[in-house]
Amino acid sequence: MSKLQFYNSMSRKKEVFTSIEPGKVKMYTCGPTVYNFAHIGNFRAYMFEDLLRRTIEYAGYEVTQVMNLTDVDDKTIRDSIAEGLSLNDFTAKYKKSFFADIKTLRIETAEHYPAATDHIPEMIAIIETLLEKGYAYRAGDGSVYYSIAKFADYGKLAKIDMENQRTVERVQNDEYAKDSVADFALWKAWSANDGDVAWDSPWGKGRPGWHIECSAMSMKYLGKTFDMHTGGIDNMFPHHEDEIAQSEAANGCTFVNYWLHCGYLIVNGEKMSKSLGNFYTLHDLLDKGWSAREIRFVLLSTHYRKKLNFSEKALEQARNSLNSFRDFFIRLKKAAGADQPKNELILQKADDDFAAAISDDLNISGALAAMYSAMHDINKLLDKQNLSANFAIKILDLYRKFDTVLAILDLDDVNEPAIPEKITKLVEERQEARKSKDFARSDAIRDELKAEGWIVEDSPDGPVIKSV
Ligand code: AMP
Ligand code: ZN
Repeated sequence: MSKLQFYNSMSRKKEVFTSIEPGKVKMYTCGPTVYNFAHIGNFRAYMFEDLLRRTIEYAGYEVTQVMNLTDVDDKTIRDSIAEGLSLNDFTAKYKKSFFADIKTLRIETAEHYPAATDHIPEMIAIIETLLEKGYAYRAGDGSVYYSIAKFADYGKLAKIDMENQRTVERVQNDEYAKDSVADFALWKAWSANDGDVAWDSPWGKGRPGWHIECSAMSMKYLGKTFDMHTGGIDNMFPHHEDEIAQSEAANGCTFVNYWLHCGYLIVNGEKMSKSLGNFYTLHDLLDKGWSAREIRFVLLSTHYRKKLNFSEKALEQARNSLNSFRDFFIRLKKAAGADQPKNELILQKADDDFAAAISDDLNISGALAAMYSAMHDINKLLDKQNLSANFAIKILDLYRKFDTVLAILDLDDVNEPAIPEKITKLVEERQEARKSKDFARSDAIRDELKAEGWIVEDSPDGPVIKSV
């Protein structure tokens, strides 16, 4: 397989990937804030990370992935109090649904899913180091802030020109815009809004800021310097910038070698987000009749750094593509011809083109093109009986290998569905109608078939019935 290359947000360039430890990759992926059901925009980020992980595995590496669960922050506290539940009881149901959803979407399981509330001592330890080293300061109310002016490299990821920043303010909230560079809270002193959510610390009762979570949990499970850190593009600032400031100041070494960010999933030109109210959950889509594989296909098939415009039309296209793969596999399973010398070349080219594309910064269009192109060529061979049963097995194995990266094809589960008698009768009736040139009736039957989940295609050998 070709060398892996990724676009590193830190250098804003594509770079050849080299892992710290040969054959092993350590990656940290920012996980969900468990105050609501994840929406399909969140899943775009997790799906990109799944494609990344599977591609790295395809290249032969062993991956150790950490995805944190943010189960304490302004939003989880606010909403748990509103529902009259303890923080743990409140977040438990969203954690549970998150794990169920990633399973449905066939997202590979990370090695660790640390929850923030289980790692408060680790966070306190880093804050103490930052205070000792002079990067942090205590505020009058018992909170602790990070002084970004003390960290010379502040802004290196988001490319903020610190020289030209007029003032640095102080913010309490975890999320803020790029134009408000700010000293951010490492530890937030307890306030009445927090109800009974508080931990003891050397600075009094309180709770951690959001950014310190990821510095503490990544270091605990992956070490002071690790290979990769990912998230949606909105995580780059302030979240990842602040993680770098904390970790590099505390540990005195590079935090992460490769930073990868995915673009937004948008609907009607706007970012899908809970605050805009323009979101679908996975279940909204499953309830509308779309399958998890179709949703997965849509989330994967736009290059991760581009904006992904989510629409029903895209889901329909995914359905069509998956149906053509399914028909192709069914045909392959029935192959009984004699091989041609060029068959081997088609197979080899598909294998090489797929690997070259996916290892080049996850070029999904190139990878899919390799799969479509081979399918096209092989379908032609099948038309002419120019493919043996043994060779068909090799092709099926190759697509099975591609599917370790994509997880959309279901090769071992493609069988021609049995056609119910009712459907065969309708098709016969349609043939009669066509013979007697009653096209209105024949069209009406076609619609009726479609409503039942079947389509009929007319071929020189007569009608072919397929399930939708
Ligand atoms: P949150 O639960 O808001 O912390 O977000 C979890 C992950 O989803 C982060 O990596 C975000 O960057 C990502 N994310 C949120 N909304 C979108 C969106 N519309 N498109 C792509 N990624 C998103
Ligand atoms: Zn994070």
